[in-house]
Amino acid sequence: MRTLRTVGEVRAALREARRAERVIGLVPTMGALHDGHLSLIRRARDTCDEVVVSLFVNPAQFDQATDLKAYPRDEARDAALGAAAGADLLFAPDLAEVYPPGFATTVHVGAVTETLEGVHRGAGHFEGVATVVTKLLNIVGPDVAFFGQKDAQQALVIRRLVRDLDLPVRIEVCPTIREPDGLALSSRNVHLRGADRERALALRDALAAAEASLGAGERDAGVLRAAALAAMRERGVEPDYLELVRTDDLSPVTRVDGEVLVAVAASVGSTRLIDNTILNANGQPGG
Ligand code: AMP
Repeated sequence: MRTLRTVGEVRAALREARRAERVIGLVPTMGALHDGHLSLIRRARDTCDEVVVSLFVNPAQFDQATDLKAYPRDEARDAALGAAAGADLLFAPDLAEVYPPGFATTVHVGAVTETLEGVHRGAGHFEGVATVVTKLLNIVGPDVAFFGQKDAQQALVIRRLVRDLDLPVRIEVCPTIREPDGLALSSRNVHLRGADRERALALRDALAAAEASLGAGERDAGVLRAAALAAMRERGVEPDYLELVRTDDLSPVTRVDGEVLVAVAASVGSTRLIDNTILNANGQPGG
């Protein structure tokens, strides 16, 4: 695996692959790679000819300076893990390569950014995500880009952006990878100390309670939400939000007919966590 620092190096490295119509896959990450990221890289390896992993901690999508400062960084470790999972190229630019002096353009996706994380982290968060992902798609020019269902709203924002701007890429969303006890893998989990690691299971418990209630025949969104909320509170955790919404536009639902996204966010100690599941009134829960 080669590590590249500049846009020019990436374009040159992919020129031959593009000319030969080899399938290029991109996995955007902010590093601190874990099995969630590696599952995306392995999926890209299985389905593409050239696998590009980007590693860039994007300041524009952080709403808290402390969160940005504390974000775990270890490029050497990420490079070793990425290579072992099958990456061919690691694009790890510095800040000025992505945001050169005078940078002044923002990609704003409406509607689906105005709820859930958009409310709690502010409009700047998804603008930061949409802008950097647009840049990465333009720099790499992948046939397929891989994202995790763990960040369900982000995946939807990116699907919308790609559709609205006619970007020639297919977006593939891969399942959430979890610890054996059900905690969704996240780079921020390293900050969970002592009892907070146990309390973090409140998110998993909330989703499991909604699934169990659906399985018992409940279809009313308010009742399903109350079951999920009670499960969180048993662990002493209050959500930032806990919502049942449509999977296609994130608008609230009152009943579960077909597929519904249950999205939850909470701070456990000083660590902010998100998780989600898809309830399916006609079949198995997923997500
Ligand atoms: P991040 O480095 O947090 O920006 O994440 C990079 C990509 O990995 C995003 O598409 C995330 O949705 C995805 N991802 C993060 N955690 C997980 C997980 N536990 N399972 C699957 N994908 C994940």
